[in-house]
Amino acid sequence: MGEIVTTLSLPADVHAHTGCIGCGACVRACPAGCLQPGGREVTRCLSFLTQKKGVLTPEEEAAVRKGGLIWGCDVCQDVCPMNRNARPTRVGLLSEDLVQFVEAGQIDTLCKTRAFGFRGPAVLHRNYGIVHGAPAHTITAEN
Ligand code: SF4
Ligand code: SF4
Repeated sequence: MGEIVTTLSLPADVHAHTGCIGCGACVRACPAGCLQPGGREVTRCLSFLTQKKGVLTPEEEAAVRKGGLIWGCDVCQDVCPMNRNARPTRVGLLSEDLVQFVEAGQIDTLCKTRAFGFRGPAVLHRNYGIVHGAPAHTITAEN
């Protein structure tokens, strides 16, 4: 779940039904195994780990490498039936010109204009190194 604080004037939306029906699809699909029927282990979540600053533990690195993404995750959102009929946002800024694939040479420039740059380029470079198999001792994310 996220929240955007803005002074932009936007039309009111219909409140979505957000109740969980307990289908377990998110638990089964989570690539990090951090969701359990009784709760979740946030510190193993790939969204958390790929935004965490500093050097990751070997276990955290292994999880990020296995996930294969250098930023975020949201698999649980993709599989949740409560999101099945979600309509694309009408806010163009949030739906146009999305970045799906990033090369190492693009990271510094993209971090100046994209929301994911808020953590600084070092975190993205670290994650890129992990996912693409850089030697562990070269992977840092100090800003
Ligand atoms: S964002 Fe990914 S890793 Fe985190 S709980 Fe959801 S599916 Fe699991
Ligand atoms: S996938 Fe959605 S509806 Fe199903 S258990 Fe997870 S949060 Fe609840």
